[in-house]
Amino acid sequence: MRKIFFFLFIVPVVFACSNKRLPVVPTANSQDQLLLSVVWFQESPEMMAMYYQCYNNATKSLTEKLKNGDKLIPKAVVMDIDETILDNSPVEARQVITNEPYSDSLWNLWTDASIAAPLPGALEFTLFAQKQGVEIFYITNRSRETAFNSTISNLVEIGFPFADSTHLITKTNTSSKEERRQKVASDHKILLFIGDNIGDFDAVFDDRTTDLGFEAVKQNIEKFGDSYIILPNPMYGPWINAAANTQTGNSQHDKLLKSLKFF
Ligand SMILES: [Mg+2]
Repeated sequence: MRKIFFFLFIVPVVFACSNKRLPVVPTANSQDQLLLSVVWFQESPEMMAMYYQCYNNATKSLTEKLKNGDKLIPKAVVMDIDETILDNSPVEARQVITNEPYSDSLWNLWTDASIAAPLPGALEFTLFAQKQGVEIFYITNRSRETAFNSTISNLVEIGFPFADSTHLITKTNTSSKEERRQKVASDHKILLFIGDNIGDFDAVFDDRTTDLGFEAVKQNIEKFGDSYIILPNPMYGPWINAAANTQTGNSQHDKLLKSLKFF
């Protein structure tokens, strides 16, 4: 009887206490909703293929645009950073494992480390653009106060061109990037915009209260794959809040469930 008690109760408890990665207890803050999107981002060759597809498309489109343009006007490509050229999925994975919701302190811990890896095709594309005499401006909503130096270090370490204080444009008092794009456009011809959020392209996509932003996309169909290159990010983005805000409920989870169109 003692032996049975030992194996049934003592062994599992000792084993559980010794395993540091597994105490994932569902809580009100459960981040399990991120599991599939993070696995897709980290483990699927489809994700890799899609990034290469987008950057191949960006290379073709840039080549075409350079054939036609005025050679004397300075040219630029405007790119986002997070989930466009840098892979932050490890911090999303950490949220799943620890059930820790997103917070500025967690994000700062991650950006301070300057260890984000480049996304497939991003480095090759930026080096190609540089070779063609095109400047890259990185317009990001990372904070100037907390992430400016660490972001430059991260980009330099990987070998991204134009990783300097002129070309890294961090968040101002608004998350809209329009004013910052206009500043670049004041002395450059912007040939391409690349990002994982349609708000990386134009101010018409900033407002998602009307039709979640679908109508604005429909009005600009011909620009996608031409001057707008959109990358996949199923892990986070303004689309989540926009979908939740169409519904009422006690939690974001409730609201998102109500937003589903189901069979
Ligand atoms: Mg982004």
